[in-house]
Amino acid sequence: THFGFKDVPEYEKEELVREVFSSVAKSYDVMNDVMSFGIHRLWKDHFVAKLDPGRRPGGEPLSILDVAGGTGDIAFRMLDWASDIHNDHQSKVLVVDINEDMLKEGHKRSLTTRYADGSRIEFKVQNAEFLDAVPDNSQDLYTVAFGIRNFTNIPAALRAAHRILRPGGVFACLEFSKVNVGIFDMIYQQYSFNIIPLMGQLVAADRDSYQYLVESIARFPSQKEFAGMIKDAGFEISGDGYEDLTFGVAAIHTGVKV
Ligand code: SAM
Repeated sequence: THFGFKDVPEYEKEELVREVFSSVAKSYDVMNDVMSFGIHRLWKDHFVAKLDPGRRPGGEPLSILDVAGGTGDIAFRMLDWASDIHNDHQSKVLVVDINEDMLKEGHKRSLTTRYADGSRIEFKVQNAEFLDAVPDNSQDLYTVAFGIRNFTNIPAALRAAHRILRPGGVFACLEFSKVNVGIFDMIYQQYSFNIIPLMGQLVAADRDSYQYLVESIARFPSQKEFAGMIKDAGFEISGDGYEDLTFGVAAIHTGVKV
């Protein structure tokens, strides 16, 4: 039996999302590679390269907030980018997530990196809809990768993002989106609804969680609708406000707090 997720009231969604990610936390990194054939790594690399995080000559080190940061995939990449490309060894990332089990995996991972002393990366349990431990106007960059579709109240999360960014700060989201090539979409739909839950069952012995992941992707708004929501939260967007990756399997949305 799966969660019957579509039918649950809003107030139970948060709890279900918590269960899903607690149950996938240990297998999460491996499953990402298996299900996306490793492509999620390329998307994440591109996301970070596009944002180009790091201290600029004469500027201050950055405060970066990685929301729904899970096991730290984006956070480590941003620190690596700042260190290697900008020779910036001071900018920091605060990784927040609603799920302590995901953060524990991230913290464990951090101990095997050059950020093991914890001076540049911190992990904290926070709900993206409130971010109540993050002060107003305090962050230079807000990132969320494959997280926002899981939020119960996306407009509230976008308002929280706007609140915590300083003026000039950037909101950036990497998320699954709508495939824009018909024939490819047909293959993709078959793959996600038939193969992914099966792989979840075989590789992680957890069909339900992977069924949820597939459904959450299908329900997430289109690129244009989501860009409209970002605008509604008060961000300025340039052009369409998004970039499609792999025919729209994923997309990057950005906005600036003015
Ligand atoms: N950003 C990481 C990555 O790209 O590998 C993790 C993505 S994982 C698919 C989604 C994460 O969103 C999970 O760790 C989950 O706990 C978190 N999440 C779901 N709802 C949340 C909320 N309301 N506030 C904060 N995090 C949330």
